[in-house]
Amino acid sequence: MQKIGTPEGTKTVLSKYPFILKKKYGQNFLIDAHVLSKIIEAANITKDDCVLEIGPGIGSVTEQLLEHAGEVISVEIDKELIPILNDQFCFFDNFTLINEDFLKLNIKKVLENKTNIKVVANLPYYITTPIIMALLESELPFINITVMVQKEVADRIIALPGTKEYGAISASIAYYAKTRLVANVPMHSFIPRPSINSAVIELSLYKTAPVELIDKEIFFKVIKAAFSQRRKTILNSLSNNFDIEKDKLKKILEISKIGINIRGETLGTSEFATLSNLICSTK
Ligand code: SAM
Repeated sequence: MQKIGTPEGTKTVLSKYPFILKKKYGQNFLIDAHVLSKIIEAANITKDDCVLEIGPGIGSVTEQLLEHAGEVISVEIDKELIPILNDQFCFFDNFTLINEDFLKLNIKKVLENKTNIKVVANLPYYITTPIIMALLESELPFINITVMVQKEVADRIIALPGTKEYGAISASIAYYAKTRLVANVPMHSFIPRPSINSAVIELSLYKTAPVELIDKEIFFKVIKAAFSQRRKTILNSLSNNFDIEKDKLKKILEISKIGINIRGETLGTSEFATLSNLICSTK
């Protein structure tokens, strides 16, 4: 049988149902079998896994997931896609379809009692970052998160300290996961063709946090401060964002061996942790 994730498969499904694509939901469907197998391979999907899929669309990725995983839970916002998906996959007893906005969903409840959970998604670009952060902040024991995102966003997520792309999002995600680029994906891998390039990245979540924090909120506040004014020294950025005397901050930067003239963009997870823990201790 023709696979959905091919140009012919997608065209067949779209012509079979009276479905109108919705730009507002970022509906660009994947039609590249090579990219699909890269996603499955990168996520290392096995029959022991329960996969949470966000935005199944007409089911290009879902079809592959159902073949390789033990269980698939897909969350789709567009109610018009629900009958199409149910039609395609009604023979699978390991498939659960939820018609909901992912950002409003109680994922803890949905994934209650599930083990070996992996997340796979070709994300709608307009809410990529909120979705990734909601997944990470949920602190659910995801093994990994394999997602297709805008190429530019992928570059920022996987960026290392000191590089042009490194920013608050790279530093925040680095606390939760090791990141890597899986594949660059050209525009012609989708119907309809988007106007930007994409990339698949894999976030492999740490089982235990890479650093010990006194207060996680302060840690993320330090990251935010460090990137709030690019090209400013860390001393000035912290001084503008924390209600702490400059002399005290100088002392903290001295003890941490970071130095007052360093720019925030060059700091990594352990330095942000040291700084935030010292800030907590002075309070
Ligand atoms: N997975 C399919 C594929 O690869 O062909 C579709 C990917 S398409 C880029 C994004 C999908 O996410 C669309 O089906 C869209 O309706 C859905 N979507 C958009 N916003 C969503 C949200 N907040 N919650 C759940 N699904 C959403």
